[in-house]
Amino acid sequence: MKILIVGNGARESAIALKLNSDRRVRKLFFAKGNATTELLGQNVYDDSIEGLRDFVIKERIDLTIVGPEAPLVAGIVDEFKKHNLKIFGPRKRTAELEGSKAFSKKFMQTHNIKTAKAVVFEAYQNAIDYVRTQEFPLVIKASGLAGGKGVVIADDLAEAETTIHRFMIDRIFGDAGIQLVIEEYLKGFEASIIAFSNGDKLFPCIPVKDYKKAGSGDLGPNTGGMGSVAPSPEFTEEHQKDFEENILKPTLKGLHSQNIRFKGFIFFGLMVTDNGTYLLEYNMRLGDPETQVIMALLENNLYDVIMDCLDGKDIELKFSDKKAVCLVMCSGGYPRQIETGFTIRNTDKVTSQLLFAGAKMKGDQIITNGGRVLSLVATGDTFDEAREKVYHDANLIHYDYEYYRDDIGKF
Ligand code: ATP
Repeated sequence: MKILIVGNGARESAIALKLNSDRRVRKLFFAKGNATTELLGQNVYDDSIEGLRDFVIKERIDLTIVGPEAPLVAGIVDEFKKHNLKIFGPRKRTAELEGSKAFSKKFMQTHNIKTAKAVVFEAYQNAIDYVRTQEFPLVIKASGLAGGKGVVIADDLAEAETTIHRFMIDRIFGDAGIQLVIEEYLKGFEASIIAFSNGDKLFPCIPVKDYKKAGSGDLGPNTGGMGSVAPSPEFTEEHQKDFEENILKPTLKGLHSQNIRFKGFIFFGLMVTDNGTYLLEYNMRLGDPETQVIMALLENNLYDVIMDCLDGKDIELKFSDKKAVCLVMCSGGYPRQIETGFTIRNTDKVTSQLLFAGAKMKGDQIITNGGRVLSLVATGDTFDEAREKVYHDANLIHYDYEYYRDDIGKF
């Protein structure tokens, strides 16, 4: 069969490699793809919803899997379903659980899902008046999509007022700042759990630890993710039970009661505190770099579990007992100013799984083309073993301005 994967990160490369090990997969297409995907299949350059719909019809593609949130929120699934095209992901309305933090917070509150206390604001002055009565730190979130940059942890009133002004009046993220969610600050460690949905039930994968900060030791600005490990070594069985009782089950109940029966992925962004596990956010898709370590440990055939979910069948997910580590190599300066266009050397020398993201082909060379350039993924009986493999390989790879954290998988 033929499969289209929408997206161009290492997440999509990881999905592609997993599917590629299935002999039934005849051809993979990517919109828009990257250097890995160009080696595994065909990149498609028109990634508009209409362009992809026409392409899928013309090429008779059997299944489309959507990586990033933007096409979901823009309604790619609704459009594909209108034409009876098989696609794994939620409709636009359901994608609002990620696309609107105000909507998802209301959903969590309505359905008693354990989450940080929060208030939603639409009027600038009301938000200002509110923060003047609060203690700090306080978390201020632009409701709409802001590429992971719309969340500010304000340490004092001045920072809170400036942030509210920048989001609601200056509109630094455009319409994403029309509504704000202002919520209590939770102190703890984060974990990500991704579940498959078959429209009726949710099937969670193993918990993942994602490293968000740019610098080693969790310093510096937030990024799209500098590495990940699975299963999360900090997330105990007790945390898992707490998650299932107070987040997973009420989420499913809430979805049913609002008659939302989507087939796709749902990502739970969690904060584990001394008072238990809280839900910070839903993403209605696979995470990056969480997907890289999940795919490394998933023992099921990915195509089969997706098709079973699309057919409304129950699935039984199986994961290897091994540990997985993913190290993200970046262009120096990421997530701020970066320079790209540099040849990536020694990629043929690595033994870890190498997944490109911000990298493209130029003639027969692979050159840097983004902030997060590539992921190296390895498994081992211990985290140390997996960690040594990816760092050994990171040491072999060279390009100008390369940068990566030195503490991924070190606990
Ligand atoms: P992402 O980039 O993961 O998609 P996002 O921009 O959609 O994130 P959130 O996940 O809600 O927004 O928040 C981003 C980060 O801000 C979280 O991963 C966490 O580190 C921090 N954060 C969010 N809410 C809180 C909170 N209530 N208390 C403490 N930290 C928080």
